[in-house]
Amino acid sequence: MSDYKTRTNLVHGGTRRSQYNEVSEAIFLTQGFVYENAEQAEARFLKSGDDEFIYARYGNPTVAMFEERIAMLEGAEDAFATASGMAAVNGALTSLLKAGDHVVAAKALFGSCLYILEDILVRFGVEVTLVDGTDLDAWRKAVRADTNVVFFESMSNPTLEVIDVSAVAEIAHSMGATVVVDNVFSTPVFSNAIEQGADVVIYSATKHIDGQGRTLGGVILGTKEFIRGTVEPYMKHTGGSLSPFNAWVMLKGLETIDLRVRAQAESALKLAEALDGHPKLARTIYPGLKTHAQNGLVQRQLGGKGGTVLSLDIKGGQSGAFRFLNALNIAVISNNLGDAKSICTHPATTTHQRLPDDQKASLGITPGLVRFSVGLEDADDLAADLKQALDQV
Ligand SMILES: *Cc1c(COP(=O)(O)O)cnc(C)c1O
Repeated sequence: MSDYKTRTNLVHGGTRRSQYNEVSEAIFLTQGFVYENAEQAEARFLKSGDDEFIYARYGNPTVAMFEERIAMLEGAEDAFATASGMAAVNGALTSLLKAGDHVVAAKALFGSCLYILEDILVRFGVEVTLVDGTDLDAWRKAVRADTNVVFFESMSNPTLEVIDVSAVAEIAHSMGATVVVDNVFSTPVFSNAIEQGADVVIYSATKHIDGQGRTLGGVILGTKEFIRGTVEPYMKHTGGSLSPFNAWVMLKGLETIDLRVRAQAESALKLAEALDGHPKLARTIYPGLKTHAQNGLVQRQLGGKGGTVLSLDIKGGQSGAFRFLNALNIAVISNNLGDAKSICTHPATTTHQRLPDDQKASLGITPGLVRFSVGLEDADDLAADLKQALDQV
């Protein structure tokens, strides 16, 4: 399928049909696979071929369809599907690292990513250095000859800072480090991270890939050698594999992801433009806005697309933010993103509650900050709803 364009691959890529020639991909809801005879069982354990399976923790036809389709979208040689985004982050990092290794990571990270770095890896003797990911000099100073892994979110949550993938990859590669990028906010639709120098790309499929808030899932993308040689042995023996049912949900999500994410990003830009400079807002943060400090990088790295999330710093601190959230009629208060439904989050009291105040401040998570994940509703309805909610602040 790889001679076709993205949208064609998203509908047909990776499809494996059973003997019934079903149109919609089958859910192979099975843990195991029957061998014709004892010799075949022995042979398969010795070396399984492309369309041969042993046990669903190792691989499954529905999961394989999802892996192939997302690898095509990202432009990666191969992919391993995981039970959640965090299983992907943990699997990619832990399969690569050992005691005595050094990791440099951007400090603006999803809370659970920070926990893996600061609480888990450190316990196993990995040294972790955190830097301001937007400061290339900070990366240059922190990356050393013995640095094995460089890790960052290409667009940070919730302040939407963009990290220069190709510049950081160049610094990391000059010291022989592997570049691992958590790419959720950039989305697989707008990202070309592998082409831009990332060695490994991770998605929480829970977000835009499902896109309708149903199931958890994740994926690790990279070279065939890395996925099958490093990631697969770790994942298949530690149990973080994706269930066939969830893989099917994600596979069907990929059929529409290009349409959905482009529509959501278009609405996000419209809303950001409508709200920028509003008297009740201290700041409107959206990377697709021409006034965003890193819009030049967004043009280079993401084709000018700012993603599907905007962050609004409401005047009046936490009470202003709560008034705003409670006045919204369309967007729901929750914590997922990339969903068809618009979702509003107050990071300081929910997703980032655990962080001490000084760390929140250094990450730009102010008491008034609200993260708004733009859904598939009519953009004019959303704009009117946001404005009436701001009027009540
Ligand atoms: C949601 C998210 C994760 C974790 O994904 P789950 O599927 O919830 O485990 C990791 N990184 C980022 C940037 C996320 O937004």
